[in-house]
Amino acid sequence: MDFAKLPSPLQAKLAKIGIARPFDLVLHLPMRYEDETHLYAIADAPLGAGVLIEGEVLSCEVNYKPRKQLVARVKDASSSVMVRLMNFYPSQAQQLAVGKRVRLYGEIRRGYFGPEMVHPKIRVGGEVSLQEALSPVYPTTAGLSQNQLATLIAKALKAEPLPDTLPASLLDELNLPDFASSVKLLHTPTPDIPQILLTARTHPAWQRLKFDELLAQQLSLRLARAVRREKTAPQIKPDGRLAAQLVANLPFGLTGAQKRVLLEICQDLTQTHPMQRLLQGDVGAGKTIVAAVAACHAIEAGFQVAMLAPTEILAEQHYQKLSQWLAPLGVNVIWLAGSLKTKAKREALAAAADGSGQLLVGTHAIFQASVELKNLGLAIVDEQHRFGVAQRLALREKGGSPHQLMMSATPIPRTLAMSFYADLDVSVIDELPPGRTPIVTKLISDARRDEIIERIAAKVLEGRQVYWVCPLIEESETLQLQTAVDTHAQLSEELEGIRVGLLHGRMKADEKAATMAAFSRNEIQVLVATTVIEVGVDVPNASLMVIEHAERMGLSQLHQLRGRVGRGAHASLCILLYTGPLGDTAKARLKVIYEHTDGFEIARQDLQIRGPGELAGVKQSGVPMLRFADLEADADLLEVARETAEQILAHNPQLAQPHLDRWLPGREALLKV
Ligand code: ADP
Ligand code: MG
Repeated sequence: MDFAKLPSPLQAKLAKIGIARPFDLVLHLPMRYEDETHLYAIADAPLGAGVLIEGEVLSCEVNYKPRKQLVARVKDASSSVMVRLMNFYPSQAQQLAVGKRVRLYGEIRRGYFGPEMVHPKIRVGGEVSLQEALSPVYPTTAGLSQNQLATLIAKALKAEPLPDTLPASLLDELNLPDFASSVKLLHTPTPDIPQILLTARTHPAWQRLKFDELLAQQLSLRLARAVRREKTAPQIKPDGRLAAQLVANLPFGLTGAQKRVLLEICQDLTQTHPMQRLLQGDVGAGKTIVAAVAACHAIEAGFQVAMLAPTEILAEQHYQKLSQWLAPLGVNVIWLAGSLKTKAKREALAAAADGSGQLLVGTHAIFQASVELKNLGLAIVDEQHRFGVAQRLALREKGGSPHQLMMSATPIPRTLAMSFYADLDVSVIDELPPGRTPIVTKLISDARRDEIIERIAAKVLEGRQVYWVCPLIEESETLQLQTAVDTHAQLSEELEGIRVGLLHGRMKADEKAATMAAFSRNEIQVLVATTVIEVGVDVPNASLMVIEHAERMGLSQLHQLRGRVGRGAHASLCILLYTGPLGDTAKARLKVIYEHTDGFEIARQDLQIRGPGELAGVKQSGVPMLRFADLEADADLLEVARETAEQILAHNPQLAQPHLDRWLPGREALLKV
């Protein structure tokens, strides 16, 4: 089949659903099947599954209340069913004319007037033979019909060679069927195959396809890692005096977990290939000090260090903290943000370029084209999941191949880490600093707002501080801003004599910084904020957080927000305000956040409720998305794919490329990220 010969509007539609070459048609597998191989008697047809029935139209009329719809009754020897069409063509009304025999395919549900079928497929009944195979239903797009797609796919299945990318011996060992028969079976399954094996995707043919997909992902990640190991990075072997001084000056000792991850990081820094390590630690686990110690090593060895944060608020906080820790040791810490005034910016840039700036802190503006670094040895990226592929690429290009330490407080479940981050080494801080009192979480209906205002006043009287987080309004940033401004005005009025501050994304960077600094110094007691404070903000004296419309936020986001309190020794409380009535999903999610404080567990449950595609950062991670395999459900297959990828690269590396060409064509650029 020659793709170029297809009419270009058709090509465009195919491209929309990810089909850019004939082989993509082969891999465009049905999302489900319709079983028109069997006629059910209406009385015996199971509810809630697609069924084919046949009968005679008893009545057919158009109703106008509650809105225009076509309602017909169809009867067979066993029973009858109501048919309802909300939008219909005159031709459909004719198909359902009284006395006609019709064949209907759809789900029977229990309706108000007994069993009903809404929008079934309608065909002429009578002496028409049944289908011999299940009918595939493909994911498609507007203007591309199932029939068109099925025809193209059938052609491709005939025309395309379908050689196996894996040797028979390996398939035997893994107990998997061959590729060609697997794809053919999935496109045109015979009626003897129990449909449940197909819909649940547990049939060996599905296993094979999912395995292939996972294997391609594992191979590409491993190859990317190998490419990275061939690059040379500066060996950082200081005697550790600077770091020792830093630690000695701290008002606290490092936890066991912090010491352990530091050993892992320092070991990487002594290597000649660039470190690419992901430092995971729940909110408040103390990742910043770990970064600071690592920075000391690189600086002592004569290299520059860059510390990047996703928002200016967070970068500014890091700058404050790191200056406070490192300036007394004689380290030149430079603030490099996009919003700097011309003169300050020129000076900062000069310090970056001549190497006198030893630790550069800022947002990714640091890595814009105008910034030159003399000898970058270590790049630290905080809240790594918030950076997209483009920024990671820029980082690479800027500093040659510096060591990279990425930090994330959105814990990644094991299966996801194994899959999406397989080219990274992972260190985990699995212990919180001692002396923290656990955060108590309460779910309160917003009808009880008055009580909360009283509670805030009491907290402030005790000397504590409060965050009030305004709802996320995804549809409109303006509306979100307005809500924050209104809430600020209202709380200022309700909390007489208490200083209430406001922080939102549209404020100028220096205004934001000034507000944050005032809050840190307890000059502001209640901070009304949009979710801009989600990441990294650290004010230990804040011990009460109120989150409005918590039901609108994601679980990881709530966990991050909640992590802004409970950072000091005071008992902390997080109040999740919700507006009832809540739907089932919203209830399930709030229950998770109410019951769990462990970020790893929350992330796991989040993954279950929302699916991995929605997990922060995964979409932009640049790692191939999975179409068929499911990380949770197919964790076992993933494990096998991982081992197999390792085996193949060690013993049969020539197998890798053909497999990658089949599954991940044209991904070379991303693989280098
Ligand atoms: P995160 O991992 O969320 O970035 P931070 O680095 O902001 O956490 O640390 C949270 C708070 O805990 C900070 O105030 C920090 O100074 C403090 N901290 C870090 N390590 C320790 C420790 N070992 N003992 C006590 N407090 C610590
Ligand atoms: Mg942090």
